[in-house]
Amino acid sequence: MGLIVQKFGGTSVGSVDKIQNAANRVIEEKNRGNDVVVVVSAMGKTTDQLVGMAKEITSSPSKREMDMLLTTGEQVTISLLSMALISKGHPAVSMTGWQAGVETEEIHGNARILNIDSDKIQKEIQQGKIVIVAGFQGATSEGEITTLGRGGSDTTAVALAAALKADKCDIYTDVTGVFTTDPRYIKNARKLLSVSYDEMLELANLGAGVLHPRAVEFAKNYGVSLEVRSSMEKEQGTTIEEEVKMEQNLVVRGVAFEDEITRVSVIGLPSSLGGLSTIFSALANDHINVDIIIQSMTEGETSSLSFSIKNEDLTETVKVLERNRDQLQYDRIEWESGLAKVSIVGSGMISNPGVAAEMFDVLAQNEILVKMVSTSEIKVSAVVEQVKMLPAVEVLHDAFQLSANSVKA
Ligand code: ASP
Ligand code: MG
Repeated sequence: MGLIVQKFGGTSVGSVDKIQNAANRVIEEKNRGNDVVVVVSAMGKTTDQLVGMAKEITSSPSKREMDMLLTTGEQVTISLLSMALISKGHPAVSMTGWQAGVETEEIHGNARILNIDSDKIQKEIQQGKIVIVAGFQGATSEGEITTLGRGGSDTTAVALAAALKADKCDIYTDVTGVFTTDPRYIKNARKLLSVSYDEMLELANLGAGVLHPRAVEFAKNYGVSLEVRSSMEKEQGTTIEEEVKMEQNLVVRGVAFEDEITRVSVIGLPSSLGGLSTIFSALANDHINVDIIIQSMTEGETSSLSFSIKNEDLTETVKVLERNRDQLQYDRIEWESGLAKVSIVGSGMISNPGVAAEMFDVLAQNEILVKMVSTSEIKVSAVVEQVKMLPAVEVLHDAFQLSANSVKA
C-alpha cells in the first residue's frame, strides 16, 4: 500500500460532470489499495474570471485583496470534489492551503512555499479519509493568505508529495502527456514517454504550459517522481524522472515557445562598474522577471544593454529605468514589442556541439530573423518576431526529427 498525490488541473474539474469524473479517478486509485491526497485547481476559467472582475474595479488592485479573491476559486473545487467522493461512499475531507499546513513567504501573488506542516493531513489519512487540498494557496506565519503564482497548484501537489513522502505524484490534465511541442499548434507533435527533470525544467520555464516550473524544481530537489497524464483518457502519460534513456538518441527532445515578449534597450550607458547591478537590482525589487540579457560595448566609453521581458511588465520597467536615470546616466531607452521566443531543449546537446549552429541555419534558410539569443547546457533560445513564432517552431520541429512521422516504429 502506498501514498499517491493526484492533482487535477482547471480543465479536469471544469464542470460538475468533470468533478464526478475526477472523483472516479480518485476512487480507482483508492481501490488499488493506496492512500490518496488530491490537490485541485479552480474550476475551468474561474481564476481568469476573478481576475477580470477585479480589473473592472481597478487597474491595479491591492495584491493582498487579489490573493483573498483568487483563493476562493480553489475552495469551490475542494468542497465539491469532497462532496462527490462522500456521496459515492468514500470518506473525504477538504482543506484550504492553510488548513493543510502550507506556509509561504510574505509575498502576495507569487509566494514560495517555505514549509508544510502535514500533521493535519496525516491524521485524516490515518482515519482512512481521502484528503482534498486547495492548490495554489498558502498562508504566511502571520496568517496572511497568499497565492503561489498562476499555475501554482502543480507546486502545491509536488510540495505535498515531498512532505508526505508520497510514492508518486500524478498530474491529471487535459493533454495525455508532455509533447515534443504544443500539439494544439503543431499537428505532428508527439508524446514523450519520459523526460528528465532538467529537460522538463527548461521546457516549463520556456513556456510549455503543462507544468509550473517551480513544481518541477521542487520535484527535482526532493526526487518526487511525476507523471503528467490525461484525466479523461486512460493511457500512460509522460514520466518525469532523473535519468532518461534517450529515445532514438535524439539530441533535441522538445521545442518550446512563448509570445508577448518585449525587448528593452538602454543605450549609451557610461561604462561604470555599478550600472548593471543598479538596473537589475531595481527591476528585481519590483519583481520584474528579466530573461535574456545582452550587453555590447560601443563607441568609446559607452555601452548598450538589451534585455527581454514579458509585454505586461513594460510600463513598470520603463518607470524603474526612468526613476534611476540620474544614477544610470544613459542616453535613451528604446523597446520593441511583438516578439516571441522559440527554444530547443535536450540533454543530448551537452555532448553534441553544433546544435545551435544548426538551429540558426534552419531559421536563416526559412528567412526568420533572430533578434536575441540565449543558451544553457541543454537549450538554445532565439527571440524572433511574433508572427514568425509558429513557422519557426514548425521548421525546427521537423529539422530535429521530432515530428510523429519522422519516428520509425
Ligand atoms: N487556479 C490557478 C490558476 O489558474 C492555479 C492553478 O490552476 O494552478 O493559475
Ligand atoms: Mg496548470
